[in-house]
Formats: sequence, C-alpha cells, structure tokens
Amino acid sequence: MTAGIPSMFDLSGRVCVVTGGGRGIGKAIAAALAAHGATVVITGRTQATLDAAAAEMAGSGATVDAIAADVANEDDVARLARIVEERHGGAQVLVNNAGINAIYKKAEDTTLSEWNEIIATNLTGVFLTCRAFGRSMLEAGSGSIVTISSIGGRVGLAKTAPYCASKGGVELLTRSLAIDWAPRGVRVNTVAPAYVETDLTAGLASHPVLGERIVQRTPMHRFGQPDEIAGAVVFLASDASLYVTGQTIGVDGGWTAA
Ligand code: NAP
Repeated sequence: MTAGIPSMFDLSGRVCVVTGGGRGIGKAIAAALAAHGATVVITGRTQATLDAAAAEMAGSGATVDAIAADVANEDDVARLARIVEERHGGAQVLVNNAGINAIYKKAEDTTLSEWNEIIATNLTGVFLTCRAFGRSMLEAGSGSIVTISSIGGRVGLAKTAPYCASKGGVELLTRSLAIDWAPRGVRVNTVAPAYVETDLTAGLASHPVLGERIVQRTPMHRFGQPDEIAGAVVFLASDASLYVTGQTIGVDGGWTAA
C-alpha cells in the first residue's frame, strides 16, 4: 500500500484466520491479507507445511502464526479458537478455505465413507469454524467471514457429486448465516473459483484430455492462479465491502457466465 493514503482495503490491526492457509489458494489469500496489514493465523492439518509457509511469509514482512487443526474435528476447532483468543485476542476475519476433493468417480460407485469424508471437511468443517469464530464476532458486534465455494457449488460437474453437494451446501450455509448474523454486525460471503492451478487440480491440469477440455470450456481459456482468488477475499474481509453480505463472488474466468 502507498504510505499516507488511507485505504478502505486496509486490514491493519485485524486478525485474520485462514483455514488451509499452508498451501495453494489459502496460502495466497493469507499472503494478500498480510500484505494489507493483517495479522494472519494459518491453519491446516500439517504443522510442517504451516511452519514453512509462515516462515516464507514472515520473510516478506508478514506477521503470521501457524496453528495445526483439523476443521472436521469439533474439538480441534474449539482448541484453535481458544488459542487464537489467548494469543491474539480473537479474530475479526475468518476465511474458510480448507477443502478436499479426494475422488473423481460416478455417484453410483461412490462409497459412503468417500461421501462422508468430503462432506465432513468441506461442509461440516465450514459450519464448525463459522460457529466457533462467529460466536466471538457476535459478542464483539462485528466481523467478516468468507467461505470458499467453487463453480461446483453453482453448477453440476461430472464425477464430483460429494464435492458439488458440499460446495452447494457452503453457498446456502453462507447465505443462511448472513441473514442470522447481519443484525449483529457479522457479514458472511462466498468466493467461488473455477479451476485454479494447485495441488487439488494437478491431476486435471496435466491430464491430456481433461486439462484441455477445462481450458476450452473456460471463457478466458486458462486455469486461474491462486493469487487471482485473493483480491476478492481482501475486498470481502475489508471495510470496502461493509454493506455486502450473503453474496457470492464468482472468480472463475467467466465460467458461470457461459
Ligand atoms: P489444496 O492446494 O489441496 O489445499 C487444500 C488446503 O486445505 C491445504 O492447506 C490442506 O492442508 C487444507 N485442508 C484439507 N483438509 C483439511 C482439514 N480437514 N482441516 C484443515 N485443513 C485442511 O487446495 P486448493 O486448490 O488450494 O483449494 C482451496 C479451496 O478452494 C478448497 O476449498 C477448494 O475446494 C476450493 N477450490 C479450489 C479450486 C481449484 O481449482 N484449485 C476451485 C474451486 C474451489 P492439510 O492437507 O495440511 O490439512
């Protein structure tokens, strides 16, 4: 930011928790929030990944804390919220980015445990973290929560029924929380990316047929980059979006316009 010019995107003095912040889109979001002045807490299941990401960001001048937690585990999420309260006095921003898509197969071949694993992380995990951090935001009378959905939460995609169901659930959970919490100063919005180059899509991007099919189907004719998702999150986290709640911003190269 340019020194001396007040910015409605300034996040100085705010604590932002980013789930799945150790790599991929979450890491890019955490770096962007930190670049706008926030203290960032990154979380995920793997402490070593988090420590490496925190060290990299700290090298660029960011203030970053790294706390391992599984968003699908209620006790872990409660412990995370307690540590953030103790170390940082709570969080003003929560970004629910942690997500998985462990399988690409037809619904009739999908097992219950595959279904449960994806729903537990992608949907129940968002509920648990929103509830844990939402409580203290409601007490404080302000806060911004951003969930990361997907084009798969807005249109059906082949061979990803549990993933699409989880992300569609995230979109409606977001709107429902937005309505419940709007009178008490807590905003809840969604960012819905299309295909972005990360570990999650590495198999698709390198696939000779599917990778090309995705590129052709995307109006911008390319995969997105993690950094390109972060701007919308900074907007929704900041005072630039004070009158915005219950909305979805598609950051999808035009996918859902077609
Ligand atoms: P990624 O590179 O695979 O990273 C996923 C992150 O989530 C990792 O940091 C991972 O850390 C964390 N995570 C997974 N399960 C977790 C759990 N149970 N508890 C806590 N953390 C967990 O994925 P990505 O592509 O960056 O995706 C990030 C988000 O964007 C996801 O919600 C995804 O659905 C969404 N999205 C991605 C794309 C895309 O094309 N890449 C498109 C649309 C939406 P650990 O493994 O260490 O726990």
